[in-house]
Amino acid sequence: MLIIKNNYSRIPTSICDACGSEFILSPEDYNTEGSWTCPLCGYTNDKMITVQSFKYPDDFKSDNAAKIDDEKINEWIRNRIDYLRKHPNDFMTFETSGDALVVVTHEHNSIGYNVYIGRDIEEAFILED
Ligand SMILES: [Zn+2]
Repeated sequence: MLIIKNNYSRIPTSICDACGSEFILSPEDYNTEGSWTCPLCGYTNDKMITVQSFKYPDDFKSDNAAKIDDEKINEWIRNRIDYLRKHPNDFMTFETSGDALVVVTHEHNSIGYNVYIGRDIEEAFILED
């Protein structure tokens, strides 16, 4: 039988961050740190992290190069509260850049907002399995 379209099994592919080429990687394509080198452009791509495979803190990175000042944090908090006022069906909103994270939540019928500020945050992009 010749398969024309496969809707049954999903084969995860990896895309080179540098040249955009797409590959199906085998376990032997990964180096000991879990990254892989593009055979076309030579770029070393980050480890592919999935919902099943991720591990904190190993797979998380912090981007603390850009230090967000307090004035900007105050602006983000006001903007996020404005957002929740305009979107009453939403419960949570956030803003992040550089070393900072602002999360604002609003419980239904609450008289106010819970505001969380994170500094030196770590993040990862986790692929769906
Ligand atoms: Zn490449």
